[in-house]
Amino acid sequence: MKKHAVSLSILPLAGASLLAQAAAGQDLGGLVNNEIAGLVETYKGIHAHPELSHHEERTAALLAGELRKAGFTVTEHIGKYPDGTQAYGLVGVLQNGPGPRLLIRADMDALPIVEETGLGYASQVKAVMHACGHDVHVTTMIGTARALSATRAEWHGTVMLLGQPSEETIDGAKAMLADHLYERVGTPDLAIALHDTNSRAAGTVSITSGPTLASSTSVDVVMRGIGGHGSAPQEGKDPIVMAAEFIVQLQTIVSRQENPRDPAVVTVGDIHGGTKRNIIPYEVKMELTTRAFSDKARQIIVDGIQRTAQGVALSAGVPAELAPIVTVLEAESTPVMYNDPALAARVKSVLVKTLGAQNVFDEPAIMASEDFGVLGLPGHKIPTVMFWLGAMDPAKLAAAQAEGKSLPGPHTSLFEPLPEPTLRTGVTAMTSVAIALLQQ
Ligand SMILES: [Zn+2]
Ligand SMILES: [Zn+2]
Repeated sequence: MKKHAVSLSILPLAGASLLAQAAAGQDLGGLVNNEIAGLVETYKGIHAHPELSHHEERTAALLAGELRKAGFTVTEHIGKYPDGTQAYGLVGVLQNGPGPRLLIRADMDALPIVEETGLGYASQVKAVMHACGHDVHVTTMIGTARALSATRAEWHGTVMLLGQPSEETIDGAKAMLADHLYERVGTPDLAIALHDTNSRAAGTVSITSGPTLASSTSVDVVMRGIGGHGSAPQEGKDPIVMAAEFIVQLQTIVSRQENPRDPAVVTVGDIHGGTKRNIIPYEVKMELTTRAFSDKARQIIVDGIQRTAQGVALSAGVPAELAPIVTVLEAESTPVMYNDPALAARVKSVLVKTLGAQNVFDEPAIMASEDFGVLGLPGHKIPTVMFWLGAMDPAKLAAAQAEGKSLPGPHTSLFEPLPEPTLRTGVTAMTSVAIALLQQ
């Protein structure tokens, strides 16, 4: 009896699942066709009204409204920053019977960049630009919400659509968790996201298995000396010379102290010291970013920065009470973005089925960073996957690549996703992946 029941229950389910997938494939194409013109308009509106990290009020309200219209139950204003201010995080939940809880994340913030694309829908906000394509992510989420709502017969479980603030400052995901995100809306079993890319054509996607994006650790260094007249260096301890030595010596951390097979980066992106050519200042301030894939490499870098700063000051004869101050900014740091290999394989197979093998690429890991992995909780407790969404005009990309060049990338004033095919592929890919993950 038991055996019979099992075989009966497996066979019809497998058949039904295939039928459902076929039907979903057809319906989804039609659904996206119906929505795409409106989504492009929505995208242009969001692109024209970018908001900086911590200030995503309009974008969050727009997304919340669209999720509600699509039938999701939305909780807004989730997130507390360390300074006590409220974040504009939101989650839309659609419960559709028993099954897995799937979280899909879109980040919402823009960057302090003056847009120079010359597009008709370019930023109308002074010196703020959606230069990382988070407007693509938000619009894709709106399309995905509508598609998942319309295909409810094809899947079961719970979808949690999360609008995340402050990715660029990598404190948005942390702020939402600190505000008891999962206690309030439930803990997901799986989490997925996408990010647009300038290295792939619109219509294509790519994916990495395992470590995908590096950890990022922000470090501040203050090199302190003894100021004085520029004509009398012997009277003081010149922090400008020390900072220069420090920066040059830093280069040996990666080249001499780190394992070449475990990549890492140390960059001094900001340096300030002095007020006038003939005054030796009292201090020089530097802001560093470091990247690594392993905890070991991260520690070697942090220790190396500390040791190098102290060593330079020591050799300059700086008194102990004026030793350099090295501060690791945990709030501005983020762990490795790790694509769970088993989940990445499942996502990739759905992408191949949906978009065709010729449109799905394997992508090597890169040294950029993301805070989406934070939502997977420490120790990769919740399997997470982020895949890349090609966003470039295929003809322009091919022409650039033929010359050995690349098109302007994220965080540049000329970054220009091609709206229609990018959004069409984003919604189709994300919805298909969600439906497939919500079959168990
Ligand atoms: Zn970015
Ligand atoms: Zn981004």
